Amino acid sequence: MEKKLNIVLFGPPGAGKGTQSAMLIEKYKLIHLSTGDILRGEIAAGTTLGLEAKGLIDKGLLVPDTVVIGMIENKLDNNADAKGFIFDGFPRTVAQARALDKLLADRGTGITVMLALEVDDEELMTRLLSRGKMSGRSDDQDPTIIENRIKEYNNKTAPLKDYYREQNKLRVINGVGSIDDIFNTLCSAVERSSVAV
Ligand code: AMP
Repeated sequence: MEKKLNIVLFGPPGAGKGTQSAMLIEKYKLIHLSTGDILRGEIAAGTTLGLEAKGLIDKGLLVPDTVVIGMIENKLDNNADAKGFIFDGFPRTVAQARALDKLLADRGTGITVMLALEVDDEELMTRLLSRGKMSGRSDDQDPTIIENRIKEYNNKTAPLKDYYREQNKLRVINGVGSIDDIFNTLCSAVERSSVAV
């Protein structure tokens, strides 16, 4: 069976995960799985799940693990023939990372590499507020919500770096600089990792 390329694109809100994912999926022909995008789709469609998620998202809090894990499981099964996936904004907790490893192992594959974009908190706040003005995203408009999201990231999500470091899959990338330079650094890390595994 052909080996899949499965990338976790990691970093705090505003680190540039969405922008870089779009470039990576085009280059490596991967499927983009963003739990944030899926949740916003549910909100736009007015589903019960969307309604429940909106209450948490608008406070800057994470939605329950079981909800996002179920969404990812569906997407893996609907795209069984994909060359690989970019996980963007997932996993965000150790429980999600463990569940993802199990979902992939059950399907005969695994995570190739975790690319962790690093950007300081001050720069994140500036980027998110400016994105909020352009996109109208409600959780990008209010500094208190943004602070909560950064807090959730530091408390629950940042520890995932250790999880992937222990598996020797963590690559830390500076997320401040030109989009093209960051993209090139990400691609070098992907190419080194896909020959290493
Ligand atoms: P994002 O677009 O990835 O920044 O996600 C926007 C919001 O959706 C987050 O602040 C969370 O409230 C929720 N969310 C997205 N992905 C997850 C996840 N993997 N686990 C829990 N909550 C999530």
